[in-house]
Amino acid sequence: MAASRLSTQYNVCGSPGCRCKAIPPVKHGPYYQVSYTRKGKSSTKFVKKEDLPEVRKQLKNYQRMKLLMEKWIDLAIELSILRLAKEAE
Ligand SMILES: [Zn+2]
Repeated sequence: MAASRLSTQYNVCGSPGCRCKAIPPVKHGPYYQVSYTRKGKSSTKFVKKEDLPEVRKQLKNYQRMKLLMEKWIDLAIELSILRLAKEAE
């Protein structure tokens, strides 16, 4: 997953005279959806309201894991450079 985002949407339906066509309009929703890119392909999935806390937690964990992996890669590169420098001594 390259990026992921949780968003809220309000929709307008097709029924004439519905509250979503009033002035001011009262749109349907909120609807929750998670958008992400995986292997170069973007996807959007609806999220049930009762699943929101779990999805928020998963997204937070994912961000944290990504950050830690970035740090780990930086440190691995640093270590590799130090080892090469030591071998050259
Ligand atoms: Zn409507």
